[in-house]
Amino acid sequence: MGLYEREQDLEKLSRRLDLALDSYRCGMWEADLDSNVTYWDERMHQLYGLVYTDGATNEATWLNALHPDDRGSALSAVNTAIGARETYVHQARVVLTEGAVRHIRSVGKLHVSPEGRRKLVGIALDVTDDVVMTEQLRAAKAMADAKNAELEQARIRIEHNSLHDPLTGLGNRRMLDKALERLTGQNTDALQSIAILHIDLDRFKQINDTLGHAAGDAMLVHASEILRSNMAPGDMVARIGGDEFVVVVTGAPGAAELAALCDRIIAEMRQPVDYNGFPCRFGVSIGVAVARQAHADARKLLVNADMALYRAKENGRNRYQFFTQMLQAEVVTAKRVADEILEGIERDEFVPWYQPQFDASTLALSGVEALIRWRHPRQGILTPDKFLAIADELNVTAALDRLVLEKSLADQMRWAAAGLRVPKISVNVSAKRLQDERLLASLEGLSIVPGQISFELVESIFLDESDDIVTANIEGIKKLGIDIEIDDFGTGHTSIVSLLKIKPKRLKIDRQLVVPVLGARTEQALIRSIIDIARSLGIETVAEGVETMAHAEMLGILGCDLLQGYAFSKPLSAENFLAFATDRGLRLAS
Ligand code: C2E
Ligand code: CA
Ligand code: CA
Repeated sequence: MGLYEREQDLEKLSRRLDLALDSYRCGMWEADLDSNVTYWDERMHQLYGLVYTDGATNEATWLNALHPDDRGSALSAVNTAIGARETYVHQARVVLTEGAVRHIRSVGKLHVSPEGRRKLVGIALDVTDDVVMTEQLRAAKAMADAKNAELEQARIRIEHNSLHDPLTGLGNRRMLDKALERLTGQNTDALQSIAILHIDLDRFKQINDTLGHAAGDAMLVHASEILRSNMAPGDMVARIGGDEFVVVVTGAPGAAELAALCDRIIAEMRQPVDYNGFPCRFGVSIGVAVARQAHADARKLLVNADMALYRAKENGRNRYQFFTQMLQAEVVTAKRVADEILEGIERDEFVPWYQPQFDASTLALSGVEALIRWRHPRQGILTPDKFLAIADELNVTAALDRLVLEKSLADQMRWAAAGLRVPKISVNVSAKRLQDERLLASLEGLSIVPGQISFELVESIFLDESDDIVTANIEGIKKLGIDIEIDDFGTGHTSIVSLLKIKPKRLKIDRQLVVPVLGARTEQALIRSIIDIARSLGIETVAEGVETMAHAEMLGILGCDLLQGYAFSKPLSAENFLAFATDRGLRLAS
């Protein structure tokens, strides 16, 4: 190839390069390191905001055009590139006359000619748009990050609030539900032993009612602190209702350990707490349920703890109760019996049976005691021990008592029509009925002949003498011509003083005192003195549980007025009683 063609080729190449540089708006520079003469093309001058004359410039001019803060790094980048014979890359700010800043990136390379002349040759281009864009992006990202952090904070706050009780800071019902769900979902060995304590404050309502809500709140906070301080890490305490708390113990607790924990909680809660100078006292009842097998259902466990709590309260407060299978069976039975009792009342399955009472000296029929029976559709005749306690819990004993009274009055009339005169009917009156304000109203409209009806009240009712309603009811009952008998006398604590106050018509000496009357002299002496005291107060005596004629005779000798017991008859249905009386010739000749 001739020189001419070579020049032509070079020319072509140079034009192409020019075109490329132009389209990127690149400037070109070339620094002769040995002579310190630098050549900048026209675009370089434009980039640096300098006037182009012949292209010659120098390092000082270059550095001077840069932002003062960028000069050091620019120079050291140059030196490094030369020393290491590496590509020179640097970005620096150029301050234009109007104060505007332009970002310029330079790229260059060391070039050594065959003669040994060293040149640094490169290009430069305006990257201001990139820099601005990057900065904007960075700012936008920072803003988004800040927003996200704020949202996260809000989310954490909302989640915390939705899972915590604001008063005590303990978990709330939702937190407990979540924990139970989580525990139920776990099929690991860790679940082999978890315990749930269901805790209910005793006497909390009184504090709230008498000292106000602020006092109540203070007590709740106090209680929560006691619970918290008794927890091991990993356990959970939640307040799930007004004065109800649940503790979930997960650290494989043993029964003895749990019992000790309950004892501790109970002891600490019993300590009086000062509220504005008032010593406040409350207690706790605790129901405990433990799951020892894997795959336990934690929610079921809570139901069991609840059942145990109910029992703990029933047994008197300030105590704990573990859930057992037996307890479960009892609760299930009680629930079924409760439902059946309510149905039974609707279907009129409850009736009085009658046990005759006799005059101890003449053995004439003096009256009957009406005793409730349940004509159960499947189980036949049921005695009160099978249902009365449950009926009491259902608050229906008062209704049953009233029903017995009404049916007794009807039966008495039916017997009279058949020629049998029953001088007196005693009915049992539950404590609840005696405490009921509506008792007297419920007796209005009944055809009660004075002296023909007695109410048997158990001795324990009179322990609480301060009860105004009871006192008023007793007075009202007497005014209606109904006699008062004190039932199960000798087992409780009736004082002579309250005997004088109530002035009952009769005392019924309890079976427990009557049964041994033939044996021990002390029992005889006890019955004799009861009879003597009663006599001196003008009160008659009835012996119940008289099982043999020998007992009857002895009681007669001791001065007892009336006798009732298996020696004469068991309780009988209305029809059977009529037949019994007819048999015994007790029926009046008609
Ligand atoms: P209570 O008032 O002491 O009734 C006497 C109980 O002793 C009756 O049991 C009767 O069947 C039983 N009994 C009678 N004679 C003898 C005897 O010689 N030996 C023995 N061992 N027992 C005898 P019942 O009918 O099962 O009544 C049990 C309790 O249920 C009653 O005790 C009473 O407290 C309560 N009760 C019965 N009916 C009513 C009622 O209508 N209303 C209320 N509130 N309670 C009732
Ligand atoms: Ca009785
Ligand atoms: Ca009795």
